[in-house]
Amino acid sequence: MTLTELASETSRRFQERYGHAPLSLVAAPGRVNLIGEHTDYNDGFVFPMGIERYTVIAASPSALRRAQIFSADTNSEVTIDLESTVTRGQPSWSNYMRGVIAGFQKLKIAIPGFDALVMSSVPMGGGLSSSAALEVSTATLLEAASNHRLDPVQKALLCQKAEQEFAGVPCGIMDQFTSVMAKEGHLLLLDCRSRTTELVPLTNPDLSILIINSNVKHELTGGEYAERRAQCERAAQILSVASLRDASLPMLEADRARMEPLIYHRALHVISEIARTTEAAREMRAGQWSKLGQLMYASHDSLRDDFEVSCAELDLLMDLARKLGERGGVFGSRMTGGGFGGCTVSLVETRSVDAICQHIGAAYREKTGLEATMFVSRPAGGARVLK
Ligand code: ADP
Ligand code: MG
Repeated sequence: MTLTELASETSRRFQERYGHAPLSLVAAPGRVNLIGEHTDYNDGFVFPMGIERYTVIAASPSALRRAQIFSADTNSEVTIDLESTVTRGQPSWSNYMRGVIAGFQKLKIAIPGFDALVMSSVPMGGGLSSSAALEVSTATLLEAASNHRLDPVQKALLCQKAEQEFAGVPCGIMDQFTSVMAKEGHLLLLDCRSRTTELVPLTNPDLSILIINSNVKHELTGGEYAERRAQCERAAQILSVASLRDASLPMLEADRARMEPLIYHRALHVISEIARTTEAAREMRAGQWSKLGQLMYASHDSLRDDFEVSCAELDLLMDLARKLGERGGVFGSRMTGGGFGGCTVSLVETRSVDAICQHIGAAYREKTGLEATMFVSRPAGGARVLK
């Protein structure tokens, strides 16, 4: 579904529900990270792009000082009182929006009452950041409704805070930054320390970014993310650096004896991944697809073996792509997102996309009994007002 189709469907659903056409329509994209995983909270680099999957919100002002929001994706509604300070509440999905509204309240930006309908083509919980797309589309709607534009960095940080404090996810800044600042035809090399971005073009039509959703999400104990963060902090402490961004591989080797093996391996992933990420941006600029692809495989291996955040399904999808190799049109492939399920991202030849999808889909089905969902995406632009 294109953005235009999604927007008109959202409009139609709004009209059906509220009896009139929406006055405004906003959209914010999901994202995929090409390389640089678990580096953002270590002050490192990430290399994401917006994808052609969006969360769209249709809205109209209402006479009442409250937000009435229906999510077509969860088929549920929430009413939020705007006269008092917005707090966490039910249903749980509303917290992503409540957090953003609370962020505006904190800035003393008056939000008029509104009716809204949310619809998304970003799969929920698939690692493509439907959560950031929801936050950033909400912030974009509130900017339009209040006639008050935020600075893009401030907007992304406000959305990140919403996810941290209202949804309880201790996330880094990549998702919200990308959903706000993505640029059509470009990847974003984002320095998570300085919060500056460098745009790297990707417009060659012979090359495609293929996203494959394993359609599994292993819940485990739920504490894995916080645990990895703590392990990285521990490693930085032993290495006497503010964050692993400031460490090098020789430094790590020099202090290896002073670390538990587990902490060493966590740090090894982060330090090598930060280096791979800046290198990947250079290879992308130089059009060196093979070299870029090798960095993606190395990233996957490191996430699987040293950081231990992959799972059998992601390993299988990566292996299937890797075995096809360049002769089969695949330059590189890796798990993307936090891990334990979700998607892989692959750099492939456009003319081989159909054959690759067919092969991987069939083999994945045969080995796991599961259906993988696949799509290609060009690098999409960030959040915008459509109407
Ligand atoms: P991801 O960001 O990778 O998709 P998360 O677990 O971070 O996964 O966020 C998914 C959650 O975000 C959903 O469970 C839901 O609560 C919320 N969400 C995202 N998009 C929507 C939507 N269109 N409508 C309602 N809730 C949504
Ligand atoms: Mg998310």
